[in-house]
Amino acid sequence: MRILLTNDDGILAPGLKALERMAREISKDVWVVAPETEQSAASHSLTLHRPLSLRRISARRWAVNGTPTDCVYLAIHKVLAGKRPDLVLSGVNRGSNIGEDVTYSGTIAAAMEATLLRVPAIALSQYYDDGEYIPWKTAEVWGVKTVRALLKEGWPKNVLINVNFPDRPAGKVKGILAGKQGEHEVFDAFEERIDPRGRTYYWVGQDHVEDVQGGRGTDLRAVNEGYVSVSPLHLDLTHRPTLTRLRKVFN
Ligand code: MN
Repeated sequence: MRILLTNDDGILAPGLKALERMAREISKDVWVVAPETEQSAASHSLTLHRPLSLRRISARRWAVNGTPTDCVYLAIHKVLAGKRPDLVLSGVNRGSNIGEDVTYSGTIAAAMEATLLRVPAIALSQYYDDGEYIPWKTAEVWGVKTVRALLKEGWPKNVLINVNFPDRPAGKVKGILAGKQGEHEVFDAFEERIDPRGRTYYWVGQDHVEDVQGGRGTDLRAVNEGYVSVSPLHLDLTHRPTLTRLRKVFN
């Protein structure tokens, strides 16, 4: 099995090293094509207005001065042309990608791009509370189990899998739960500041809201309660019940 690895935290990220160790337990045929610099929250952006470079670091390791989507695109069309990967693993992201995070995430977007290019893909993210201690070993140990179980079961070609690991040591993880995408509580989280020239600028971003559970059977709930969360996502964003209603109104 040929496995392509990428991420949105950049080629030097510790989570990518954890992902490599995980992938090598599954296959010896592992390739890395990852962004030169951090691309968190890049979402599914493709670089159209400047050239891209592929920098070869070693035989099966490349860096791209672009987004996670650019990496998957160039990996499949160029680096692995004629030897398509059987699986794309994206991550392990520094921080969870649960609830509406999935719409911002570059980690998930890489898996989306692979899915569009008809390569099965799994996005993996490690939840943490304290940035000083991120339990990468949890992702590594549970990642191998989760990916193996997913590969055995399989999933449709227009679906990608979103996996999140809880913030606790591997031995304290309660198990693996499949669930739906949850919802964070949306709140204002930006700072307005004044620069040295007297101009106003803004710094956007959201802090974690610890007490939000995201509803029953969700990714948020599973991760908060100490389980590995597995959510199947698809690129069709259509909301079926509303479509049924609108068809009656318009068609
Ligand atoms: Mn990231």
